[in-house]
Amino acid sequence: MTTSRRTDEYQSFQYLTEGSDYKHYDLASELDRVPPTDVPLTDAEQELVDRLTREFVLVSMHDHPNRFPDDISQTPSYVKDGHISTAYEGLAHSSWDCVFDNLLDGICTIESSSGWKWTEVLHDIGMRLCDIAHQDFVVPATSVADILEARDRGTVAWVATLEGAAPIENELDRLDILYGFGVRSIGVTYNEANYLGCGLREKNDSGLTNFGRRAIRRMNQLGMLVDCSHCGDQTTLDSIAASQKPIVLSHIGARALWNTNRMAPDNVLQACADKGGVIGVEAAPHTTLTASHPTHDIESVMEHFEYIVDLVGIEHVGFGADTTYGDHVGIHQLYAAAFTFDELDPTQEDQSPPDFEHVDYVKGLENPTESSHNIVRWLVKHGYSDDKIEKVMGANALRVLNEVWV
Ligand SMILES: [Zn+2]
Repeated sequence: MTTSRRTDEYQSFQYLTEGSDYKHYDLASELDRVPPTDVPLTDAEQELVDRLTREFVLVSMHDHPNRFPDDISQTPSYVKDGHISTAYEGLAHSSWDCVFDNLLDGICTIESSSGWKWTEVLHDIGMRLCDIAHQDFVVPATSVADILEARDRGTVAWVATLEGAAPIENELDRLDILYGFGVRSIGVTYNEANYLGCGLREKNDSGLTNFGRRAIRRMNQLGMLVDCSHCGDQTTLDSIAASQKPIVLSHIGARALWNTNRMAPDNVLQACADKGGVIGVEAAPHTTLTASHPTHDIESVMEHFEYIVDLVGIEHVGFGADTTYGDHVGIHQLYAAAFTFDELDPTQEDQSPPDFEHVDYVKGLENPTESSHNIVRWLVKHGYSDDKIEKVMGANALRVLNEVWV
């Protein structure tokens, strides 16, 4: 059983009256929605894990550390109410020192049916920040100094990020406004095309647009991280070339291991690393599968990790497990139109679709609490040196943030 790092028991929006100021939902448990799974360790290995977790700065490059309704079918109405709960208890039981919170992303449908509208994205950020301002365990962070300070105080640094730039439409200054609200990383596209470029689901990826080039220049000027996790291959390569700073693929896997367009081909992974960037390994259900581990669990995810380390080197890999507190598979089913990406790489249409077993959750990596413990456990169990563990658990990400967040 994990222990809590916080002293208060603040619950989201407790400064309001539940039921009259905002709607009540029974939310999923942050600690045992599914039976927790520990990577088994000897006592000596466990001691090492405990020491490394204390000494190193652990950064999750991409997660959704918020709570969803216990009955996941209530999610559309929960989202429309616009009061999304932060998983304070789950984070207090994790060992992350810093989490990149990608907010509601593709399901930000507070006032529209298809989401991503400017006003609803601002609502999402503002309401989360307001709730966070009423407690002191999760601390908004906009600089590397903030992350290190949060860690020294035993709190969690929270970084607001957006998975796609659609909400800025064709307005460059909206990037500055988002920076002003504390957003420090933005995806060039989500799954579909926008004013900047093409998402991974588009059949014809025409690369970064002229506006996209201007947007990346502005992001470089601002000190905003560029993320291409959901872009088409050409749009990613163009973004890497256009950016004066390293970029990240914060949550992705290797297409060489699993042939879907949600994964990146070797040349794209290599281009990101050559630019000095970091690749965060993804663990959302049914993404980072492999032929040898077609039942999605921590072993499938770590096979992607090891493949990418072999390809680009340990300095360029981290973790963006992309997990949440609630039924993630249920969310994918509810919002299939927004999330479907299991199409084949269009350049390899002769291959048959990957066959895999559907799971209810990713064993060992169910939520940010479990990922923070089990990834370090797995690395220790598999003999990774302290130095390598420090790099992939956070130092590589901090190196890029030090270069980009000027
Ligand atoms: Zn994503």
